Amino acid sequence: MPELPEVEVVRRRLLTCLPGLVVRDVRVHDATVCDLPEDELRRTIAGRRVLGLRRRGKYLMIDLGEPVAAGRLLVVHLRMTGQLLFRPEPRGRPARFVITFDPSTELHFYDMRRFGRLWSLDPRDEEAFFAALGPEPFSAAFDVAYLRRALAERRAPLKAFLLDQRRIAGVGNIYADEALFRARLNPLRAAGTVGPREAQRLHAALLETLQAGIDHEGSSIESFIDPAGRRGSFQEILNVYQRTGEPCRVCGTAIERVVVGGRGTHYCPRCQPRRGGIAPTARRARPTGPAGKRDARGAPPATRGAECG
Ligand SMILES: [Zn+2]
Repeated sequence: MPELPEVEVVRRRLLTCLPGLVVRDVRVHDATVCDLPEDELRRTIAGRRVLGLRRRGKYLMIDLGEPVAAGRLLVVHLRMTGQLLFRPEPRGRPARFVITFDPSTELHFYDMRRFGRLWSLDPRDEEAFFAALGPEPFSAAFDVAYLRRALAERRAPLKAFLLDQRRIAGVGNIYADEALFRARLNPLRAAGTVGPREAQRLHAALLETLQAGIDHEGSSIESFIDPAGRRGSFQEILNVYQRTGEPCRVCGTAIERVVVGGRGTHYCPRCQPRRGGIAPTARRARPTGPAGKRDARGAPPATRGAECG
């Protein structure tokens, strides 16, 4: 599922093509994708020029400008399986929406599980829209002092804490497991039991893990590809995520899997020992074996000529 690094990779790829282009049209093939009906959505964005692309947590933001009134903000959330693609391969079901730009660029939104969403916002509503989101990991607001305050007195397991978008924006299942391994912290630890030095390790591990995800163009474990159709490679250097039963790359101990807050959670029992308080809500789960749901790692990267549509 796309997390902060994958959405950032999408943003950077779109940044090479979209700014300066004018929205010509939008076609919605699945009305549940957007809070506005197709004709109203078209009325809010057609004729506007792309000014830039931003990201907030796992949300992608497309800033649209003149000529109509005070601009518009398109927000896309990829959720589980959303893909924004310039030139998709032909598929069985149509894209959930397609935005066409002048001159001759198309952006198709495919989404197997259909949890992805599109919003067209008045830019004045941006702050309210994102009000519940915690700080951006790479912003000055997310420092060790903030993390210590956020952890303090929380009884939730560390894994659940990291997935809570109100505490930190953009972290999901893959990068939470990998960051906890890097920080040598057990995912079942109650967040409030993390000490000052451990919080410092966790802060550094989060930033390093997310940056590594961006540097590797994201994790293509299930369906993630960037708008040019390219797969990321972070899945090739995973330490624990979906490696149940495989040897830890540091100590050789078999990686274990538990379920925390309904999410499969992977850790090394030796590198991430269970000291401190174990949160009461966590429970052990049956290991799924090393095969798991993982995609074939050897699949060749999708090749494509033009970057833009
Ligand atoms: Zn280990």
